[in-house]
Amino acid sequence: DPISVTRRFGIGQFQPDAHVYARRRRWKVIGLDNASPWNPRSDVSTWTYRRCSSCGLRYHAQEPRCPRCRDSRPGQSLPSFDFAGFLAKKDERPILDEEERYAVRNVVKVYPQWSGEGHRVTGRWTVGPGWALRLSQNEEVRWVNEGLQPTVNELRSGIPVLHREAKGYLVCPSCGRMLTPAQPAQVQGRGRRNAGRQGNQNNNGHADTCPQLGNAPQSVAITTSSNVEVLRLMLPVPRGTQPETWKSFGVTLGFSLLNGIRHHFMLDAAELDFEFEGPWEINEQNFRYEMLSLAFIDPSLGGSGYLHRVAQLFHMVAERTLEHLDHPGCDSACYRCLKAYHNQRYHDDLSWPQVIPALDELAAAAPVERPLETGDLDDPGPWLDAYRRGVGSPLEAQFLDLFEEHGFHPSKQVPLGTASDGSTLSVADFAVPDRRLAIYIDGAAFHDGDRSRRRDRFIRQHLRNSAPPWQVEELRASDLHQGRALVERLTGVGAE
Ligand SMILES: [Zn+2]
Ligand SMILES: [Zn+2]
Ligand SMILES: [Zn+2]
Repeated sequence: DPISVTRRFGIGQFQPDAHVYARRRRWKVIGLDNASPWNPRSDVSTWTYRRCSSCGLRYHAQEPRCPRCRDSRPGQSLPSFDFAGFLAKKDERPILDEEERYAVRNVVKVYPQWSGEGHRVTGRWTVGPGWALRLSQNEEVRWVNEGLQPTVNELRSGIPVLHREAKGYLVCPSCGRMLTPAQPAQVQGRGRRNAGRQGNQNNNGHADTCPQLGNAPQSVAITTSSNVEVLRLMLPVPRGTQPETWKSFGVTLGFSLLNGIRHHFMLDAAELDFEFEGPWEINEQNFRYEMLSLAFIDPSLGGSGYLHRVAQLFHMVAERTLEHLDHPGCDSACYRCLKAYHNQRYHDDLSWPQVIPALDELAAAAPVERPLETGDLDDPGPWLDAYRRGVGSPLEAQFLDLFEEHGFHPSKQVPLGTASDGSTLSVADFAVPDRRLAIYIDGAAFHDGDRSRRRDRFIRQHLRNSAPPWQVEELRASDLHQGRALVERLTGVGAE
C-alpha cells in the first residue's frame, strides 16, 4: 500500500536510505518501486542539468548560459530523474522519540528557473525604498535532491559521486535497486548501502534481469518540477562584501515576510514556499554590484492567484510581519518567530533585528505598480548611485547631498571602537573623528559587515559613555526636512 505525499516533499522524505514513519512503524527506503506508475519508464535522465559556477543555480544543460546570472562558463552535465515511487521495508528497531524524526536534514533544494513553457512576467511594482517586486507565471521550478555532501574520505576513496559537493544517489533507474560500486578502494568494511543484499555483490546490486547489468553504477539526483507563480523581491547590494552577511539578511527578511504573508492571508504552511536566491554579480555600465532575490513560490500548479494580491498589499504584509516579530525574550530567532522544521538549514542565519529597518520602510507606503516592459533589473539606479558614492542606501545619499550642499564634508563609513580581538565594533555612516562626532542614519542600508541593530545600539551607547565622549547623532528620514538647520546643528556640535 503506498503512502502518498506531495512530490516536492516526497523526494526528500522518501530518498534512498531514509527512515519513514508511517502506520506506527518505522520503514527504511531501499530503492525504487518498479511497479509504481509514478516512476519514469526510461533509464535516460529526465532532466540533465548543470551547476552555474558563478551563482550555483541548477539549470537545464541545453541552456547556453545561466538563466539567472547569465554566466556562460561550461559545466559538467549531471543526470537527474523524476523518481516518485519508492520502496521501503519495515525497520523493526523501536521508534525513540519525536526528535528523532527530525534528525534527518531536508536536503531537497529549490531552483526557480527564470524561464519555462509559457513563462512570462505579469506584474511589477516598486516597494519600500525603491526595491522591485516581480511576479512571474508559468515559471518552471525545480526541486532537486542531490543527497549529502561527500566526506573527504569518501572523495578520496573514489566512490561515484554526483559532483564534489553532493553524493547523489546510487540507485538504478532500470531495476530500482540500490547499487554498490565494484571496488570501494581503501575503504574498510562493506558499504552500508550493501546491507541485506548478499549475493549481489558481483552485480553491483542490480537485479539479475536488469538491462544495466555490467554497467558501472552512476550517481544521480532526484528531481521534480512544476510550472508555478513566483513573486520576487529584488535587492541590489554592493559588491565584495561577505556573502554570509547577505545570506543572513536575505533569509531572515524572507522567512519573516513569509510568516507575514501567511498570517495576513491565513494560509497553511504548505501553501507557499520561500527560497533565497543569490547573491549574483551584475555588471551594468561598468559598475559591478550584486543582486539578491527573495523568491516566494506558490507551488500549486499554474498558481492560485494570491501572489498578485500579496504584491498589491505588500505594505500590509510588512506591517503584519512587524507585529509577528514583536515578542519578548528573543534577540535573534526562536520557534515562536522564525525557526521552523522546514527552514532548519538556515537556523544559524536567522536574526530578526537586522531586518526591522527594511520592514519599517516596506510598511511605510503602498506598492506602486510599474509598466511590465521595464527590464528585470527594474531601476536599481538610486541604490547603485548610493553604492557608487560609498554610502549604503538612497536615504544616506540624500543626507550626503544635504551635507555637501551646505559645505559639510564628513567622512563616510567610519569604523569606530575596537573589540578585544582587534575587530571593529561599529561603522558610523558618517563621522568627523577629530571632533568625535558620529552620525548614524536609521534605515535599511547595505554595508560591509554585520550591523545588527541591537548590537549597534549598544555600541552607540558605549561611544557616548567613553572618555572623552562621542557625540552620537541618530538621524531618520524625517530629519531631512530640517535642511540647513540640521547641518548647522551638526557642524556646531563640539565647537566651543
Ligand atoms: Zn548563475
Ligand atoms: Zn539495475
Ligand atoms: Zn523569537
